[in-house]
Amino acid sequence: MTAETITREIKVHRPVARDSEPALPAGHWSVAAVQALLDKPLMALLYEAQTVHRQHWPEGDIELATLLSVKTGGCPENCGYCPQSAEFDTGVKAEKIMTVDEVVLAATAARDAGATRFCMGAAWRAPKDRDVEKVAAMVSAVKGLGMQTCATLGMLGPQHAQQLRDAGLDYYNHNLDTAPDYYGEIVDTRTYQDRLDTLQHVRGAGISVCCGGIVGMGEAPVHRAGLLAQLANLSPYPESVPINSLVRVPGTPLADAPPIDPLDFVRVIAVARIIMPRARVRLSAGRQQLGEAVQALCFMAGANSIFYGDKLLVTGNPDVETDTLLLRKLGLNARRTQEQEACA
Ligand code: SF4
Repeated sequence: MTAETITREIKVHRPVARDSEPALPAGHWSVAAVQALLDKPLMALLYEAQTVHRQHWPEGDIELATLLSVKTGGCPENCGYCPQSAEFDTGVKAEKIMTVDEVVLAATAARDAGATRFCMGAAWRAPKDRDVEKVAAMVSAVKGLGMQTCATLGMLGPQHAQQLRDAGLDYYNHNLDTAPDYYGEIVDTRTYQDRLDTLQHVRGAGISVCCGGIVGMGEAPVHRAGLLAQLANLSPYPESVPINSLVRVPGTPLADAPPIDPLDFVRVIAVARIIMPRARVRLSAGRQQLGEAVQALCFMAGANSIFYGDKLLVTGNPDVETDTLLLRKLGLNARRTQEQEACA
């Protein structure tokens, strides 16, 4: 397949441009151009990424986002990396949706520990009307704590997106997971186009987009380039780009996937920074396995957001003290909300 063919195929998956284009511009990245960046000598790539990062993020702060699973397990989808799918025997039990009070308690603790964004995740194919009503109540309550709000609930139609926006939702997370041409290896209960449609509904409601993917799922380097090109060519590209390194959970189809070389993970972060300069690039799942030195390289490469708290939905994450110590060692400051500034 030629680079041109790949570029053409990727373009088929691009969403239709909307009337009012938000602030972040879309790039026109071919898979071949992204691959060329990924293949650069590492030091040259890091230098370029850090240069772009300093130009676009002179304040150099790190955003701390906390993710809470408000409805765990029993999901009818079959995403091959996910321990919450009902198809896989992973020991994760289906639970009922949390109450608003429980969510507020967790969000308050996250805010008091320094988080500025609170993300609520639910293991659904798509929320029903009654689910959206419950999550909207959670969003309003968390917004009332002075935090940015984010939700990840599966596929979302335009009406539900608007309902959540009206409740105060700032961000919606919906990942593209991988390149369009590798996607079928990972999940077959929803299509790539389904994902793009949800992103468009989210944009249409005026909600900012949090969208990234997962590496280390047995993909080839060209698929990493394909994912990054797809993200950068969204119109506009996402405000938040979480980059996950697969956490191999026993019982999932990807439990034995070959781990990604940590330096290749750093490359993915660096290229994300270069081609989406104003996005918050977030170190997400798999950070616990990276160790301090590789995380430091990721920050050098332009990562400026982390998930913060000892759990990421149902998998482990470094604890708050470990992260606080790491940021201090590296001389990095956490982003603060106006309320936190006032109390400092
Ligand atoms: S990633 Fe989300 S949609 Fe896919 S199985 Fe897990 S909870 Fe369900």
